[in-house]
Amino acid sequence: MPNPHPIQRAIDDAFQAFGQLPGGANADYIPFLAQVPDKLSALAVVCTDGSRYWAGDVHYRFAIESISKICTLALALEDWGHDIVQEKIGADATGLPFNSIMALELHAGKPLSPLVNAGSAEERWQRILAIQQQLGTADIALSEELNASEQATNAHNRAIAWLLHAAGYMYCDPMEACDVYTRQCSTLLDTLALATIGATLASGGVHPVSGQRVLQAGNTPRILADMTMEGLYDSSGDWAYTVGLPAKSGVGGGMLAVVPGVMGIAAFAPPLDVFGNSVRGQKMVAAVADTLGYNLYRSPASAAP
Ligand code: GLU
Repeated sequence: MPNPHPIQRAIDDAFQAFGQLPGGANADYIPFLAQVPDKLSALAVVCTDGSRYWAGDVHYRFAIESISKICTLALALEDWGHDIVQEKIGADATGLPFNSIMALELHAGKPLSPLVNAGSAEERWQRILAIQQQLGTADIALSEELNASEQATNAHNRAIAWLLHAAGYMYCDPMEACDVYTRQCSTLLDTLALATIGATLASGGVHPVSGQRVLQAGNTPRILADMTMEGLYDSSGDWAYTVGLPAKSGVGGGMLAVVPGVMGIAAFAPPLDVFGNSVRGQKMVAAVADTLGYNLYRSPASAAP
């Protein structure tokens, strides 16, 4: 048998080491997420040249949740430009949980959809869904069941929307914004689609399979910078310190890291740590990055560790 490709080997090793690690618990404040089988595990790499490698339950479709924020941020940057996004949202981590009432200044953990304020809520939603599909794959789609589960339990987010409105940071009807935000969190995608989103960001906005430019090249470094600072909730700093790659997780168990110019590394496993990050997802993605020698802060000449 021929030797597997080094990327496939890195994936197989990481999956074998961490794919069934115990620990963590499914998110349960959204009822839909509590019932996702917690043994599911998947790991995938999509490179900027379109090559793909994977292991595990890679075709299982899970909830995108907060990972949707990088797609909506991309849309906001395309529509408005980075100066306005920085002015209206800012780019500094709050150092507080993603849904913190105390963190009243806008940050990536709050609804970005208010910025995409052309047209009706339905038009905004359709554009947000379209950017998820353009960055990833055409089969990313809304789950009516998940959306119903989230809309019925999002009182906290509705409160945030009203507080933003009161503070002058809401640019359309707050309940409409919260509705669209909740829908953007309620799409399903598989781990290969998530890694494809990473590859599109890694290549400066060019889709790895279609070769089409989805984003302006100048916007992707800003998305990656936001991911570095806030992508893993309150443990973003620890992740940067230990892994050194921009990443984003969601409470659906998805986890994405980007190696600029090279690849997206994605994982899925439902049990979360106390911060809301997939326990096994973090381990698997970190192991692949480490085996392949990717860490943005490591100088090319210095050897690990
Ligand atoms: N829809 C979820 C919420 O806003 C997403 C949370 C997340 O993945 O961080 O509560």
